[in-house]
Amino acid sequence: MELTTTNYQVVFGTAAYRSLSHLIQQKAYSKVFIITDDVVNEHCLPYFLQQLVVDIPFEIIEVESGEAQKNIDTCTQLWSVLTDYEADRNVLLINIGGGMITDLGGFVAATYKRGVDFVNIPTTLLAMVDASVGGKNGVNLNSLKNMIGTFTHPKLVVVDVSYLETLPGNQMRSGLAEMYKHGLIADASYWEQLKNLDQLTTNDLELLIYHSVSIKNEIVLQDPEEKNVRKLLNFGHTLGHVIESYCLENSHIPTLLHGEAIAVGMILEAYISYKKGLLTKNLYTEIKETLNLMYKPIVFNENDIEICSSLLIHDKKNENGKTRFTLLEDIGKGIIDQTVESHFIKEAFDDYMNR
Ligand code: NAD
Repeated sequence: MELTTTNYQVVFGTAAYRSLSHLIQQKAYSKVFIITDDVVNEHCLPYFLQQLVVDIPFEIIEVESGEAQKNIDTCTQLWSVLTDYEADRNVLLINIGGGMITDLGGFVAATYKRGVDFVNIPTTLLAMVDASVGGKNGVNLNSLKNMIGTFTHPKLVVVDVSYLETLPGNQMRSGLAEMYKHGLIADASYWEQLKNLDQLTTNDLELLIYHSVSIKNEIVLQDPEEKNVRKLLNFGHTLGHVIESYCLENSHIPTLLHGEAIAVGMILEAYISYKKGLLTKNLYTEIKETLNLMYKPIVFNENDIEICSSLLIHDKKNENGKTRFTLLEDIGKGIIDQTVESHFIKEAFDDYMNR
């Protein structure tokens, strides 16, 4: 299975490694650098290196795992290591890991000597269905998510579900949140399928991932740089990002994985959709109940809610000081560029707390 996107391919299964070898031979790269984190190095690199058939030199560069490493200091270290190895503009970076690595490695590749080629090999569900495709990369600026970055596409994305065998359950659920989002914004029957996940096989999982990537791809192809329809993919992310950043900084709330924060964001933004008269109460209830079954409840106090609401001023999608939300008109139908009065945000948190 494979999908063609802007100017590269997303290839599924072991065939993908043939595409990778072909790319490396065809482009005659001077050297290959494998960027990964310590956990992925342990769990995924041995298998990956067996699949990698290349007759040119390669180096493995490991960074510490975790979202806290997705910052400009780590980029500086990576740029310095590349310089130490005298990497020229004809090197290839292979980013193998979760979204932290594909975002970070993509950004380092996009900026090193004004840009070198890179390949993404996602090893988390979240990175397979979302972070590794679509061309966005970047790093956080202190607690502000993805503030610095570029739109630069990889040369190839390799999706191999066998990496997921070692992925912990909470990380699987984190990736699932983006899949729910794909159903909610664009495909009601996909949402239905995801609501009934009880007897899932690895084969089903590959097809579901393919479906999610197809949905994202179709949207990105229409609007690669998020001028309009790509904003659909931001459903759940306006409040989700704020909550994710806030939890990272405040120890009285447990740190949330990206998808866990997005799941809360989707419940809140579905509530706002309902309150604005876009979505029926029944559909809002269906979304809330489905997501609440899958994700642990988060307790926000009044102060948390106030600060989260005020943090919206940093949202990258703001225009003329106004926060723009992507909301839902139906299950399977998102609507972009919606302004939201601040009292709806407070009410959404209150409703979430009353569950
Ligand atoms: P992550 O990369 O931090 O990975 C989560 C954890 O799983 C890490 O500890 C990692 O070492 C470990 N891990 C990775 N693969 C593993 C495997 N196969 N087995 C065992 N452990 C494994 O987090 P993530 O959830 O993959 O990605 C989150 C990041 O993605 C965030 O920074 C988010 O902003 C970004 N993101 C980017 C986009 C985009 O379009 N660029 C979209 C969505 C999310």
